[in-house]
Amino acid sequence: MSSKKVLVAGGGGFIGGHLVARLLKDGYQVRSVDIKPTDNWYQVFDEVENVVADLKDHEACQQACQGVDDVYNLAADMGGMGFIENNKALCMLSVLINTHLLQAATDNSVSRFFYASSACVYNADKQVNEDVVPLKEEDAYPAMPEDGYGWEKLFSERMCRHFREDYGLRTRVARFHNVYGPDGTWDGGREKAPAAICRKIINAVETDEKEIEIWGDGKQTRSFMYIDDCIHGILAIMDSDILEPINLGSDEVTTINGLVEMVEDIANVKFEHNHNLSAPKGVNGRNSDNTLIQQHLGWAPGIRLRDGMQKTYDWIRGEHLKKHEKQTV
Ligand code: NAD
Repeated sequence: MSSKKVLVAGGGGFIGGHLVARLLKDGYQVRSVDIKPTDNWYQVFDEVENVVADLKDHEACQQACQGVDDVYNLAADMGGMGFIENNKALCMLSVLINTHLLQAATDNSVSRFFYASSACVYNADKQVNEDVVPLKEEDAYPAMPEDGYGWEKLFSERMCRHFREDYGLRTRVARFHNVYGPDGTWDGGREKAPAAICRKIINAVETDEKEIEIWGDGKQTRSFMYIDDCIHGILAIMDSDILEPINLGSDEVTTINGLVEMVEDIANVKFEHNHNLSAPKGVNGRNSDNTLIQQHLGWAPGIRLRDGMQKTYDWIRGEHLKKHEKQTV
């Protein structure tokens, strides 16, 4: 049992929930804070100090940081492309969470502070072709990030840097590239492509439909990182001396059409693909250059997309069946 106490902000969410689970396993004392009622958290543990609070609020951040050694900030109002394209102001308001958490961490002499940034900080000019050159850390500048969500992430990264330089808070920043896996959002409008595709296929199988809708022409390229690789990377980055934001993502690239075909293969079905060209689809191409993280930490994703998608599909199918049973009782 470590005597260290850590705060996970956004612990009721997808990545936060998995991080809490891992920190508990490693013997940390954990305080987990989220704005949602605990009934809606993906993972809840009795051994954890579970707190419901709005971390946009300065006082809530002060209380959350009291007596903790390290802070992991994974709290943000976010979702998949459909959500962030239609909620730019809301996404930008998450700047209040990181601002107040940085202040509170400094006031409470926190030792280390982790910030979850995103590949959405990268300059859009570098992401116009499907045949993408993997994004290096330096490609975030000159700045032209994703409108709303990406600007908030880039600004918050910068704030972490200046709190480190001016106040000596040891900040660490990872730029996540599309994280997926069980115990995360799979319906309701905030889900991301891997979960949305699983849900659409599961739903089409259950209702005997012949076609599924795909956002955009499906030729857009992406990489997806399985949650276990993400958690391993977060802990390694937090423990490291890496001061600048660093990529944390898979470099196994696929098209969205390729991802759909992969899930069809998992489900052993084949549908007509109806491409909705007016739906939000994000940049044409994005992949992670992992040179730096490999050099500094020897980190590389260990889970192939096909294996991770099988686990994700199985979990979403279980959740879908549970929900459907509840509705029919
Ligand atoms: P998530 O939505 O599942 O988790 C975020 C959690 O933050 C939610 O439970 C939400 O209720 C909580 N939250 C929002 N506003 C809050 C507030 N004011 N006070 C307290 N809690 C609040 O998302 P996730 O996928 O787990 O993402 C975690 C972090 O990683 C976020 O910062 C996100 O921007 C970043 N990120 C995620 C991905 C990805 O693919 N999942 C990619 C890039 C970056």
